[in-house]
Amino acid sequence: MKALVKREAAKGIWMEEVPVPEAGPNEVLIKLEKTAICGTDLHIYLWDEWSQRTIKPGLVIGHEFVGRIVGIGPGVNGYAIGQRVSAEGHIVCGHCRNCRAGKQHLCPNTVGIGVNRNGAFAEYIVMPASNLWPIPDQIPSELAAFFDPYGNAAHCALEFDVVGEDVLITGAGPIGVMAAGICKHIGARNVVVTDVNDYRLKLAADMGATRVVNVANQSVKDVMADLHMEGFDVGLEMSGNPRALNDMLDCMYNGGKVALLGLQPKGAGIDWDRVIFKGLTLHGIYGRRMYETWYKMTQLVLSGFPLGKVLSHQLPVDEFQKGFDLMESGKSGKVVLSWN
Ligand code: NAD
Ligand code: ZN
Repeated sequence: MKALVKREAAKGIWMEEVPVPEAGPNEVLIKLEKTAICGTDLHIYLWDEWSQRTIKPGLVIGHEFVGRIVGIGPGVNGYAIGQRVSAEGHIVCGHCRNCRAGKQHLCPNTVGIGVNRNGAFAEYIVMPASNLWPIPDQIPSELAAFFDPYGNAAHCALEFDVVGEDVLITGAGPIGVMAAGICKHIGARNVVVTDVNDYRLKLAADMGATRVVNVANQSVKDVMADLHMEGFDVGLEMSGNPRALNDMLDCMYNGGKVALLGLQPKGAGIDWDRVIFKGLTLHGIYGRRMYETWYKMTQLVLSGFPLGKVLSHQLPVDEFQKGFDLMESGKSGKVVLSWN
C-alpha cells in the first residue's frame, strides 16, 4: 500500500510502498478516506529537535483520519464492515491506576499512532476496536478527518465553565480557532484571540471571536479597555509561546482559570507573582477525555457548531508536498488529504 513515511533523519516526508497491516485480536483494519495534517506532522516533517529525540525513521506518520472498516479481527463486537469511523489516536494500557479509574487520558503508558507506532497517512491502518469513534452520517468526512485536534480544542474549551465569561485564547492555530468557535457557540461573553499571523486571525474572526488581536502591533490590554473589562475569567493557551503565556497571566482577572495546551519550550519561565497574588488556577491539558470529549464534540457539530470554517484546503494525497508547504507557510487552517 501507499504510505507517507519519515524515511530519512532530515527535512521531508516520503511516499513509499509498505505492507498492509493485519488486524489482530480486538483490532480492526480501516481503509483511509481522508486524513488531516497536524502541527505535530509538520514538526516531524521539519525534523526539529523534538522529532529528532522522539521519532524513529521508517515510521508511517499521521494520526488525524477518517475511513471505513474493511477487516475485523477476532473478538471484536459492535462494529460492521463498511462502517465509517475515526479513532482516538492515543492507545492506553488499560491496566494502570488511571486507566482503571476511568481517567484514560492520564494513562502514563500512552502510545500515539503516527508518533510511537505506525500512523494513518496510508491506505490502511489497524486500530484497537476500543479506540474507534463511529461518525454519524450527517458529518462529512472532510470534517471527521480532524476530530483529533478538534477534540484537543473541545477538551480545553470545556474544561472550565465559559458560559457568560470572558475568554482569552492565545494562538490562532487550527486548535485556537476551533476553541474560539466552541466558546462562542456555547455562550461565552467576550472571546478575544491573539496571534501574530493575520491569515489565522481572520479564521478566528470568521469563527465568531469577539475581537482578534495581532500582538505584533496591538496589545491585549488596549482591547480589554475597549471592551470595558477588568480581566479574563478563562484563558486557553494555544500558542506554545512563552510571551503569549506571560501576557495571558498578566491579563487574567483575579481568580481566573487557565488551561495550558500549547507546548512550551524547555525552561520557559512565568511570573509566579501573577499566579499567586491573583489566585489563578493553571491546568495542563493533554489529548482528549476518553470518551467524554468525543461525545461532546460530536454533539456540538450536530447542534450547528460551524467546524467547517477552520478547513482551508483539501488536496488529493498525491499533492502531499503542497499540503506540507501550506502548513509550513502558516497560510492555512486545517489541510485535509484525500486517499480515495
Ligand atoms: P499551531 O502551531 O498551528 O498554532 C500556534 C499559533 O500560535 C500559530 O498560529 C502562531 O502564529 C501563534 N503564535 C506564535 N507566537 C504567538 C504569540 N506571541 N502570541 C499569540 N500567538 C502566537 O498549533 P496548533 O496545531 O493550533 O496547536 C496549538 C498548540 O497546542 C501547539 O503548541 C501544539 O504543539 C499544542 N498541542 C498540544 C496538544 C496537547 O495534547 N497538549 C495537542 C495538540 C497540539
Ligand atoms: Zn493506562
